[in-house]
Amino acid sequence: MKKIAIIGSTGSIGTQTLDVVRANQDIKVVAISAGSNVELLIEQAKEFKPDIVGIWSEDKACLLREALSNFDIRIVSGMEGLIEIARHKDSDILVTAIVGMIGIRPTIEAIKAGKDIALANKETLVTAGHIIMPLAKEMGVKILPVDSEHSAIFQCIHGETDNKISRLLITASGGPFRGKDREYLTRVTVEDALKHPNWAMGRKITIDSATLVNKGLEVIEAKWLFDIEPEDIEVVVQPQSIIHSMVEFEDGSIKAQLGTPDMKLPIQYALYYPKRRYLAGDRLDFKALSGIIIDTPDKETFKGLDFAYNAIKTGGSMPTVFNAANEKAVALFLDKKISFLQIYDIIKACMDAHTLIENPDLEEILSTEAWVYDYVDRYMLG
Ligand code: NDP
Repeated sequence: MKKIAIIGSTGSIGTQTLDVVRANQDIKVVAISAGSNVELLIEQAKEFKPDIVGIWSEDKACLLREALSNFDIRIVSGMEGLIEIARHKDSDILVTAIVGMIGIRPTIEAIKAGKDIALANKETLVTAGHIIMPLAKEMGVKILPVDSEHSAIFQCIHGETDNKISRLLITASGGPFRGKDREYLTRVTVEDALKHPNWAMGRKITIDSATLVNKGLEVIEAKWLFDIEPEDIEVVVQPQSIIHSMVEFEDGSIKAQLGTPDMKLPIQYALYYPKRRYLAGDRLDFKALSGIIIDTPDKETFKGLDFAYNAIKTGGSMPTVFNAANEKAVALFLDKKISFLQIYDIIKACMDAHTLIENPDLEEILSTEAWVYDYVDRYMLG
């Protein structure tokens, strides 16, 4: 029986991972963790009976201890807890369903402990891809993409090891504001930005989809996962989210992976790779499609993509600045402290002000994150 640990089990990816586990019945969940949703975490712990349950704050850990006192479950908290979960002695795979750069350390620790990674937490690879990919190679562990676009590419290149990829075509839905101009964006609210046309996801990634920062993060993620130069990665808008991404080989042949938008497919593919399993749900009905639209992204209005390309071309600590500035700006936007377009202003200000570190180690990545947070605080004071 395959054993998995999940960091971020209460979120969108985490709960869908547990749906996949429920539907298959041959995976044991050995550890779960959340940030603050103690109620759902308790329910999950009672249902899946993992060995370890983690929560970020020690205060909430007390609640967990009380609620789960009749179970043989170890309760952990904070970063130490996340690391203990990531390194769980019995797990085969760590599912990184946590949001944000907080996922870096546990992911690195899991790789060091020889665990395969089902990677949803793209911020980790964006900021520390140069550390994670060589480490995974050295340790002989697999990085199994969960992001639907990267899973699509991963599925397309299966069996193509000796064939040269000439281009990756990453699809974007365009988000809720596709086709809108800057003037329109000056008036949009948090509620508007949270209405994604195709996917039900966590709040942060939903805002990232609206700004196209998410697509930018995915370009950087793809660079690391598939060892492709950014100039060979193109983003195309596919508003129905049916083509999940495409790979062009050197003979000009293009392979695509298609399906209805359902994150359980890439999650399940990562957990059982390279096997496919039955997955309940709607099937794509080509006859019912009015036509698959492919469009070019509006990079002038949605600046997230260009920022990402600039960050990865500059390299070093710049992707960390791009990512951390975005994390902070999105949090401010969700708190209604800044407007939608100010997300771009904050990212740009941080990238302009940063003094590059060429090949940052983990401590330098984290200190860059701290610098960004401090810079944004000062920027907000005017
Ligand atoms: P959610 O916001 O829905 O969930 C985030 C999870 O992380 C929750 O379980 C949350 O706990 C947990 N968490 C947050 N902070 C901490 C912390 N300090 N310590 C421990 N756990 C914490 O996010 P998503 O599921 O949408 O996204 C997760 C990751 O997957 C992101 O990196 C995202 O970019 C990526 N991704 C998501 C997709 C999607 O469809 N949702 C698609 C592709 C990639 P709590 O519930 O208690 O807050």
